[in-house]
Amino acid sequence: MVVSEADCIFCKIARGEIDAEVVHDEDDVLAFQDISGKAPVHVLVIPRQHVANLEEIGDLPDAVVKRLFEVASAVAGKLGVTESGYAVRVNNGPDARQEVFHLHLHVMGGRKLSMP
Ligand code: 5GP
Ligand code: ZN
Repeated sequence: MVVSEADCIFCKIARGEIDAEVVHDEDDVLAFQDISGKAPVHVLVIPRQHVANLEEIGDLPDAVVKRLFEVASAVAGKLGVTESGYAVRVNNGPDARQEVFHLHLHVMGGRKLSMP
């Protein structure tokens, strides 16, 4: 699915056009609470730059790709799940039930998680 930056819900959150409960805010990366959290901690970490999925990750500067994971770790620390542990997940494509076509990391914790 191709969604333009104008219509992309996460681009709208990044631009401040739609409200979100922001957990971490910096130049290239934003983290906010998932609107329907599936765990006590469920935060989404996004690059401000629109890329749809992992197939487009080459469009992001290397430093931003690294920063996504550093922010995931920082969010886990801020929300107190570093010791207990957490999962970082990308749903990519139909079988993974990707719903929003703006690359994002799910950071989930606060309870025992299971695969998938
Ligand atoms: P995925 O694309 O990886 O399957 O999941 C998209 C995630 O975005 C879902 O967990 C969903 O709850 C979350 N989500 C969808 N729309 C919004 C929104 O408008 N605001 C926030 N904060 N989260 C959203
Ligand atoms: Zn977007």
